[in-house]
Amino acid sequence: MSQSIIPFFSLHTVHEAVREEVQAIITRVYDADWFVLGTEVAQFERAYSVFNEVQHAVGVGNGLDALTLALRALGIGPGDEVLVPSNTYVATWLAVSHVGAVPVPVEPEYTTSNLDPSRLVAAITSRTRAIMPVHLYGQPCRMPEIMALADSYGLLVIEDNAQGHGARMAGQLTGSFGQASGTSFYPTKNLGALGDAGAVTTPNEAVAYRVRQLRNYGSLQKNQHDLLGYNSRLDELQAAVLSVKLQYLPRWTAQRRELATWYNQYLADIPGLRLPTVIQSAEPVWHLYVVHTSQREELQHYLMAHGINTQIHYPVPPHRQPAYAQLNLRSKLPIAEELAATCLSLPLWPGMTEQMVMRIADTIRQFCEGTH
Ligand SMILES: *Cc1c(COP(=O)(O)O)cnc(C)c1O
Repeated sequence: MSQSIIPFFSLHTVHEAVREEVQAIITRVYDADWFVLGTEVAQFERAYSVFNEVQHAVGVGNGLDALTLALRALGIGPGDEVLVPSNTYVATWLAVSHVGAVPVPVEPEYTTSNLDPSRLVAAITSRTRAIMPVHLYGQPCRMPEIMALADSYGLLVIEDNAQGHGARMAGQLTGSFGQASGTSFYPTKNLGALGDAGAVTTPNEAVAYRVRQLRNYGSLQKNQHDLLGYNSRLDELQAAVLSVKLQYLPRWTAQRRELATWYNQYLADIPGLRLPTVIQSAEPVWHLYVVHTSQREELQHYLMAHGINTQIHYPVPPHRQPAYAQLNLRSKLPIAEELAATCLSLPLWPGMTEQMVMRIADTIRQFCEGTH
């Protein structure tokens, strides 16, 4: 049994496809001798706003900063509460905490792992200012319901679109629903830079203007600082690389969708294994393919022993992190805990073959049929 190892994630195929173009553009930036806030950033911002079908995109240093600056630009701060999913990556919560507001977790739907609109109302108080839907795993949230609810309660919506580049719900792109959205171009995201990078997207010109100030010490004019800003700029090199890779993103997304279709097909009807749920009118981009089983640890070890690497997103929910111990939410969010204890992310990256998916599915079937 000396089969080759299937890595959880690989950039190999993607990076071979763009090698010459990326190297040429890196040389261009190197020779241009201008590395921060120049033409490459402006060009990428235009291209990304067109891609995301939203009026403005503002490049920033990373996804956490994108969310933080979006919240600050919308005036959310101390005394405010923001509704966040209980089962998201910790960055969503941290953005709220960093502007001085309080993250108020709302449990997700058990089937989709995404925000449950029917649970939002019960969490709204007189201090609630905003909702932060997270399009987890590249599956769009139920945005029509969430937007309608936000409208009727006068709440803002800031989407965490770090895993959702190019996903649609009811025909509309995620990252274009809310008053602002934050996204990440961390190397392993569907659109990844060669280091940290992120962007705020917004239909609102005033919000875009404020994020441009905030990312650059609160300043758009040399030596004039209108706000207590940060240093969180997307740099020219990353922007140039992202412009090249953005052109390929639709192709890579199509490959992810094909891989997900194969997984759905080959993993069908396995006892004790729950597959991802795609809701009606959703066009996911499959950042991750996540299954659930009560024997997660055993299955992960079995796959590892058979040369298949998997990961867990995320094993410890934010409310169980030491950083959030003071919120006293231990044991109050059972769905988040159950999902964290049972989820397993299977390999999914452009360049994977149908044979690899079949081998992974066969191995999972062997394990599950042997233990059920
Ligand atoms: C990756 C990620 C972030 C943070 O992005 P960084 O660029 O790593 O700061 C935020 N939210 C979610 C859901 C993510 O997956």
